[in-house]
Amino acid sequence: MGAKIDNSMRAMVGRSAAGVLAVATGTYGNAQALHAPVLVLNASYEPINVCAARRAIVLVLKGVAMAEEENGHFLHAARVAMRVPSVIRLLEYRRIPHQTRALSRKNILLRDRNTCQYCGLVLASGELTLDHVVPRSRGGSSTWENLVACCHPCNRRKGNQLPTEASMKLTREPRAFNLHTSRHIMRLMGRSDDKWRKYLFY
Ligand SMILES: [Zn+2]
Repeated sequence: MGAKIDNSMRAMVGRSAAGVLAVATGTYGNAQALHAPVLVLNASYEPINVCAARRAIVLVLKGVAMAEEENGHFLHAARVAMRVPSVIRLLEYRRIPHQTRALSRKNILLRDRNTCQYCGLVLASGELTLDHVVPRSRGGSSTWENLVACCHPCNRRKGNQLPTEASMKLTREPRAFNLHTSRHIMRLMGRSDDKWRKYLFY
């Protein structure tokens, strides 16, 4: 079941993303709910991404996507109210290239789920650093396969050594972050959300 977006609201905000954002942020009572994760499905119902509710609302108001599930919160605008989606679906099929995501600190922490890959501690992003498995000083490159999330104590302990030299062991082999990894993470996030479950576990 898709949620219907009131046409007067669409007319009011126009089709510009900036206008929609202004309405969404200016009139929403609970700003926190605008950051709630929303599952994005392709037109084929295949899960392809996770975005913030705010972005999902923009996609729905622009007519790019429709709400498939709602999260129980309301977005109040001047004349109308709309439910905040928890799952949206793109109206046009988008081909998702099987390329890997951009190599960045943020994506490595996401891939490693904010977990130190040596001791297994789960920490806030600010308390983690990136470790070169083969140190840069010894020819190690900055690649998906050679960078892992690492806590500061483990990073200091390892220093310029290989893991084996420091008697440390990686909890798992670092791999490039591709669509498969993304889907794995979406499943982990969706485990606690009944509305996501049916789209993620098939
Ligand atoms: Zn550690």
